[in-house]
Amino acid sequence: MEVLWAPWRMQYIAAPKSDGCIFCTPTDTAALRPALVLGVTAHARVMLNKYPYANGHLLIAPRRHTAQLTDLPEDEFCDLMSLLRRAVAVVETALRPQGVNVGMNLGACAGAGVTDHLHWHVVPRWVGDTNFMPVVGAVRVMPQHLLESYDRLRPYFAPPAAALEGESHHSHQR
Ligand SMILES: [Zn+2]
Repeated sequence: MEVLWAPWRMQYIAAPKSDGCIFCTPTDTAALRPALVLGVTAHARVMLNKYPYANGHLLIAPRRHTAQLTDLPEDEFCDLMSLLRRAVAVVETALRPQGVNVGMNLGACAGAGVTDHLHWHVVPRWVGDTNFMPVVGAVRVMPQHLLESYDRLRPYFAPPAAALEGESHHSHQR
């Protein structure tokens, strides 16, 4: 079994858990960057994982607070899937990974860190990325690192969506 080495995960495990749901953050523009929310659609949102397994690790969640995939009405599910597809496209376009993991953990025994609000993980991968991540200073460096990633990815999700369509069209031509 392959285990990603992400020492800042210890910060997450050790941090006191707040009562608020991390996926139910305010959606006004000023609140997006502090919460690392990259984009909000009618029924879904995409955010950077504050405790990532890799640079550009995204979380995609419905705006409805639910643990059940089957709770989502069809239109909300479709919007969520559309945003998931978009998130993969953005990661591929902006970060040029060699591969992408897409996954969802339902329930604590399946490995979900947040069990009461379902969410998808999109994790860009590079060959050897389990080995190169530095140990020293990772916890202190990460917050700045996250905001840099945020600022790099945010334009792809901020309306209008021209940036993504333009680049993805371009990449198909190569
Ligand atoms: Zn929630």
